[in-house]
Amino acid sequence: MRIIYKLEEMTETARGWLAGGAVGFVPTMGYLHQGHIALIEAARQECEISVVSIFVNQMQFDRHESFTQYPRNMARDLQLLNKAHVDVLFLPRAEEIYPPNFSTYVAPSGSVAERLEGVTSPAYIRGVSTIITKLFQLVRPDIVYFGQKDAQQVAVVRQLIRDLNIDVNLRVVPTVRESDGLAMSSQSHLLSPAERKAARIVYRALLAGKTLVEKHERRPSAIEKAMADLVATEPLVQLDYAAVCHPDTMNELDDVRPRCMLAIAARIGSIRLIDNFVWQEKGRWQM
Ligand code: AMP
Repeated sequence: MRIIYKLEEMTETARGWLAGGAVGFVPTMGYLHQGHIALIEAARQECEISVVSIFVNQMQFDRHESFTQYPRNMARDLQLLNKAHVDVLFLPRAEEIYPPNFSTYVAPSGSVAERLEGVTSPAYIRGVSTIITKLFQLVRPDIVYFGQKDAQQVAVVRQLIRDLNIDVNLRVVPTVRESDGLAMSSQSHLLSPAERKAARIVYRALLAGKTLVEKHERRPSAIEKAMADLVATEPLVQLDYAAVCHPDTMNELDDVRPRCMLAIAARIGSIRLIDNFVWQEKGRWQM
């Protein structure tokens, strides 16, 4: 695996891609787990060249502690990436990504940016959109891979690819879960055993929402309330939102019908958990 640190070297390398075949790109913030590996495997299956980036993007964190506290373990990540046969690891430095005179941001608007995460973590949408746009320019991939777990990120990236005419294909990979249903995330390793146990309530609340839909409940408010009530039974967990919305726009829905998304965001101490199920056409669930 080749490791690239300098932006100039990344740009130079990307200029030569055409000869090598399709380039699949997986942007990450590191502390890799099987969710990331699923994205990498999808890229390796479809593309001749696989590129993974690790960059903990300070711009997308609302609180400085959340950024400094974000777990990091480069030695372990390198092992996992080598084992996954990644071709290129891009490890840009913050000083080069955001030099002192940096002043241009990508700031989406509308419901996709302003609802849900846009309310609870205002820095997140702008931070993600800006770094993703920069990484796309530097890596110049043909296909990019994102996880369904971060559903609003997927919606924002889809929108920015369209709005900024970025020549890239987007693939969305299903959420990889722990055996008890908890969506894998880098931050869940920071939970204490009691908190880790309490975290299961998020998946259970989504299951409860799904069951209601299957019992023909069509009022979004009734499903939102049922999910919120279940999360409230776990004293260690504070709910940010339990929402029924359209998975592309994050807009509220008048009634529950395919396609619609059940989405939950909650906090355990300073750790934030997000998860979702999508009820797709023909009644299938993406979960
Ligand atoms: P992160 O390192 O958390 O920024 O995530 C990098 C990419 O991995 C994003 O596209 C995430 O949606 C995706 N990802 C994170 N956790 C999972 C998971 N449990 N299953 C599938 N994809 C995931």
